[in-house]
Amino acid sequence: MIKNPIPWPNGARCAVAFTWDVDADSAVHVNYPDNADNHVATLSLMRYDPEVAIPRILDLFGRHEIPLTFFTPGWTIESYPAAIDLMIGAGHEIAHHGYLHHDNNNMSRQQELDILCQGTEIIRKITGNRPLGYRTPNIRSNGVSRNTIDLLIQEGFVYDTSLFGDDIPYVLTSGQGSILEIPCLHGLDDWKHYMNWRDFGYHMPVSTPARVMEFFKAEFDAAWEYRGMWMCVWHPPVSGRLARCAAIEPLIRYMQEKGDVWFASMGEIAAHVNSVIESGDWKPRIDRLPYWVSPIAAVQDPQPR
Ligand code: ZN
Repeated sequence: MIKNPIPWPNGARCAVAFTWDVDADSAVHVNYPDNADNHVATLSLMRYDPEVAIPRILDLFGRHEIPLTFFTPGWTIESYPAAIDLMIGAGHEIAHHGYLHHDNNNMSRQQELDILCQGTEIIRKITGNRPLGYRTPNIRSNGVSRNTIDLLIQEGFVYDTSLFGDDIPYVLTSGQGSILEIPCLHGLDDWKHYMNWRDFGYHMPVSTPARVMEFFKAEFDAAWEYRGMWMCVWHPPVSGRLARCAAIEPLIRYMQEKGDVWFASMGEIAAHVNSVIESGDWKPRIDRLPYWVSPIAAVQDPQPR
């Protein structure tokens, strides 16, 4: 099914990356710029993230010595330093997730660049290093503009993980150069399964943890079978709740018992993939951007040809 599988370290069948988007209440302030302070219930839902869920998640994955990647807005880092200190203290990767969860689709190139640099500087200050990777803050509304990837390349990012164009990492090229894309699978985003919340416009029925884990496990089995990779996009106030968090441990054990799995941070995966590209041991698929530079002609002329 995968024509060109990546040779993972030590002959592993697949790579597994547990990634978390640590938004806290940043998105509430962006979505309700005039009165977020009055949305107290929604604020409380999202503050559960750094206050309650992060320590619990760190305990769980710490017991299994599994590295994590936390995509964290600059504003969250400034507002909840205790939670961020815990992540850094446990040796996990802190990656870029914008400043205040803005939507790249609604910004000029310069605004996007300014926010990108602002978030980078905040991470550099707290970790001592520039972030290696980026995930668009607004992945749920697919907030990657025609400038986003160009700017990531210009700013020297090693990887992006905001797109959906393949099952395994691939290379994006643009006028600025190239960058590794570690693609998402929208079904491995926990919001799709668990969230029903009017302030965020989510109205789907809430699934049970057992049903959701069945979905995550099926994707893992396919990644293992076809030598791909499995990467979740989870959120502490969503998957960090009691029954949902408790259901993660059996999934971890299932992966461990199946064996030949490389548990890694996103930075480690990007470094490995770039090293097998450089050594010539693996040839990536290359996707050239931009896909289009303007609306296509067919939409200007709706007459059938
Ligand atoms: Zn986010």
